[in-house]
Amino acid sequence: MFNLDEQAALGLTQAHLCDYHGRLVEQSIVRDLKQMQVAASKCNITLSLASSFRDFARQSLIWNNKFNQIRPVFDINDQPVDLTHLNEQDKCQAIMLFSAIPGASRHHFGTDLDVFDANKVDDDYQLALSQQEYASGGPFFELANWLEQHAETYGFFLPYKQFNGGVAKEPWHISHISRAQYYNNIHSKELLEKLLINSNVAGWPSLVDQLDTIYPQYVSNISTAGN
Ligand SMILES: [Zn+2]
Repeated sequence: MFNLDEQAALGLTQAHLCDYHGRLVEQSIVRDLKQMQVAASKCNITLSLASSFRDFARQSLIWNNKFNQIRPVFDINDQPVDLTHLNEQDKCQAIMLFSAIPGASRHHFGTDLDVFDANKVDDDYQLALSQQEYASGGPFFELANWLEQHAETYGFFLPYKQFNGGVAKEPWHISHISRAQYYNNIHSKELLEKLLINSNVAGWPSLVDQLDTIYPQYVSNISTAGN
């Protein structure tokens, strides 16, 4: 149903990945990633991966667990949202603030990473990926500043650098500029629709119904490199 490039863009294959210290990443980002980690270490920052590649099945599980209230859903102020009385459309909207639609996560590409600074916390620290951790006074504030200033030098950018009315600000999420663009160019609303209508993603009929507004608001709505 999908060619190999389309499968990579949708999280349906691991053919484009390699192992990097126990994590799966897109094979051609390794050199840049290594260089960025070395540069960060010179500033006492241990740039570590909290997550990298995530496949469609895994993203579907996260999505369905949120939709069915097995996993909590948070609002823009990190407060839990009660989905009980929301219709399917509003449930999807609430989830999309922090979780991508399965098949539309940039983590499918293997070019996108959630990072933290292992040098600032103990080994048993429970990472929350919350705004506070990356804000002034938080353990990863230095890393967040460093990324804003230097990520692009090493070929990475912050697609969720600020809230643009779609996905919430994610100062921990970095993306390899050229390789992510490659998969992004393959990805489309039509491709996603074809995947969703054949899936077990909770609420998929609502998603497909509203895809004309959802896609530009939550999928292609990113902060671009150089801004
Ligand atoms: Zn992420």
